[in-house]
Amino acid sequence: MKMELLAILACPKCKVELDLTIAEEKNGEIIEGHLTCKDCNEMYPILNTIPNMLPKELRETENR
Ligand SMILES: [Zn+2]
Repeated sequence: MKMELLAILACPKCKVELDLTIAEEKNGEIIEGHLTCKDCNEMYPILNTIPNMLPKELRETENR
């Protein structure tokens, strides 16, 4: 995801801004890392530049 995207991303549960932790970055794009909600501390992984904004409960339900 592009760094600018952080400005429009919010926690789907609390609608508050997220903290960005970058594990890998290339040309201003985040390849891997995670977003953390400042309110509920939920973690949203970024894998292969794609942020997964699903709450943990939904991610687990999808696998069933
Ligand atoms: Zn939250």
